[in-house]
Amino acid sequence: MNQKKFLHTAVNQHSGISLNSSEPSVHRAGWIIADKNTIIQNGYVKIQNGYIIETGKGRTTPNDKEVDYGEGVILPGLVNAHTHLELSALKDSIRTTNGFHAWVKELIEKRADLDPETLKEGAASGIRDMFSSGCAVAGEISTLGITHDLFSESSLSGVWFQEILGNSRNTVLKCKKGTNQHVSVAGHAPHTTSPDTLKRLKALSLREQLPFSIHLSESEEERLFFEQGKGQWADFLTERGIDFSGWEIRGKTPVKYADNLGLLDSRTLAVHMNYADEKDLQIISGKNVFVCLCLRSNARLHGRMPDVKGMMDKKIKLCLGTDSLASVETLSVFDEMAYAAEKFPFIPPGEILEMATENGAAALGFPGVLGSLLPGRMGVFQYIPLAASSEKQLLESLVNAEFDGSIQMIIVKE
Ligand SMILES: [Zn+2]
Repeated sequence: MNQKKFLHTAVNQHSGISLNSSEPSVHRAGWIIADKNTIIQNGYVKIQNGYIIETGKGRTTPNDKEVDYGEGVILPGLVNAHTHLELSALKDSIRTTNGFHAWVKELIEKRADLDPETLKEGAASGIRDMFSSGCAVAGEISTLGITHDLFSESSLSGVWFQEILGNSRNTVLKCKKGTNQHVSVAGHAPHTTSPDTLKRLKALSLREQLPFSIHLSESEEERLFFEQGKGQWADFLTERGIDFSGWEIRGKTPVKYADNLGLLDSRTLAVHMNYADEKDLQIISGKNVFVCLCLRSNARLHGRMPDVKGMMDKKIKLCLGTDSLASVETLSVFDEMAYAAEKFPFIPPGEILEMATENGAAALGFPGVLGSLLPGRMGVFQYIPLAASSEKQLLESLVNAEFDGSIQMIIVKE
């Protein structure tokens, strides 16, 4: 894959700054992007007890404690709506270029060679990479369960999803709503997780009104398995001891099947959707399901892009995820935005930024809490030393990751 390299991904010692403050603090910069429709030149964000109480232009009252960051831009911490931090230690180690099935096999083998400590170290390094590349909110998908403590003790906001493959009969699962972090559940995919388990997971997350995540309509293998009920993927499941004889998949698309199981609603995050057809998109749109695009991962693993135009025409709410370092080079959401801008130049830059901020925050169960810098939101933002002469230039430079210098992440806690 022809991928640009971006200077901002350099590790920055100021990443992950946390301030505790009951006194109001004012954070000024040349530009404030509160959301895609609220861009203020020479503006400020005023924060008290961890929450934004004012977003405005010019100066506030002279007595306020003020930090002037410079002529650059303050914008929300970005949202990586789908990642697998626990696979970070596999960076650069999966070599196959022989399709998704071969990739999954190699991943399982190589992951089994690594001890939990190595996987945890990889995940911790992944969290640092996220902060240094402007991301403060994540949807972490954990199959092994080993990232729970790292995630909950970190300054990341978002959701830690316990992901289930096969059957969950013997797994104790819990969902928990928090202020800036939720714990919820994810079904791996309709072609890997039993229908009873998928229904159980969805019901568990719904009981707590939490998001439920699922890889959906991702691969050719998944599509063929649904079409034929046999073949390479069926053999693979049998090898892994997963009995799929009772799964009523034949003749349905993965989306239709997920809908029949009652998995699709506005608290579901459907990830990938590379093979979704027109009817699938109608279902997704009608049920207000969030879709997470992982475009660089799709290019690497499937050589295919989802129908983003069709999704946007149907007003499907899109967000962005990097997937894991086992399939992409970086966990940078800026890299993901730049790739989206390159592949789909018809999308206005403001909408790409919205995918990586407000939409991602809403998909992870934090609408009106994270993903924008309007009053009432949490004080989670970043400063980038990017000089721009107009809103248009500012958005284009950000979305195409055309800036130099370190990103400062600022998290003002209660
Ligand atoms: Zn994934």
